[in-house]
Amino acid sequence: MKTKLIYSEKCLGYGTWHIEGPQRVKIAHDILQSKGYEFVHPTAATEDEISNVHDLEYIWNLKKGLVEDSDTPAYDKIFDFARLSVGGALLASKIGGFSLMRPPGHHVGTYGSALGVYTRGFCYLNNIAIAVKESKKPTLILDIDGHHGNGTQEVFLGDEKVTYASVHQSPNYPGTGGASEANCINFALPRDAGRKIYFETLDKALSMLDLGRFEQVAVSAGFDAHTGDLASLGLVEQDYYDIGKRVALLAKPTFFVLEGGYNGEKVGLDIDQFLKGYEENLKI
Ligand SMILES: [Zn+2]
Repeated sequence: MKTKLIYSEKCLGYGTWHIEGPQRVKIAHDILQSKGYEFVHPTAATEDEISNVHDLEYIWNLKKGLVEDSDTPAYDKIFDFARLSVGGALLASKIGGFSLMRPPGHHVGTYGSALGVYTRGFCYLNNIAIAVKESKKPTLILDIDGHHGNGTQEVFLGDEKVTYASVHQSPNYPGTGGASEANCINFALPRDAGRKIYFETLDKALSMLDLGRFEQVAVSAGFDAHTGDLASLGLVEQDYYDIGKRVALLAKPTFFVLEGGYNGEKVGLDIDQFLKGYEENLKI
């Protein structure tokens, strides 16, 4: 069965000048639509759902536009854009879909910037963390974005129901994830590490997991480890097929939430390959 994509044009309504701009998902959407994917619309998350992860004062400040940092602007109505993106992740978790929404979320923690990092890295609400909390299920969060998800790690560090696993570029923003800690499995790789090292490392990370513990897998699906993007690990389209295959072989109900990836054409083609790799290797 083809994975449904979750998308609303409303997510294009902010940040035209920013690298985390509307074109990255607009172009990806158009490519995936041309390839025959089915799209469904999200509805905005409630404050109750959001407050399972985020501090009430942070939510209040976000609503008031009081949380601007050097690369995460307080756009007009950003709270509404952010909670619709959370809604995408919540719907993805319910239907086993792929949320193609923005803003991304994995750098933002309970109180805003996470683990002492100086910015929230284009993130306002932690979409995947809120969806995992809402599901109440023991979950493996697999973060394939080229950056470490410091926000997600902060939210779940020490949580016995959740394991967070990430392979990411270092040194790079946010500077965290240099080593594994408790339930957070981290592997840092040099810039443009390349396919061989990447898959050796990903397979090592996956081999450390006690899969029987998890009822679901949630993928922080960022594509900026693609060659030339902000956190390149030297990956190309075909490599995303092989990542999708590995996710299928985990043999768990799975959902996907877009994180980074800043070249819309590459994001669209990578998602297509990733979902092909996932769907063609599902044994369920
Ligand atoms: Zn990233």
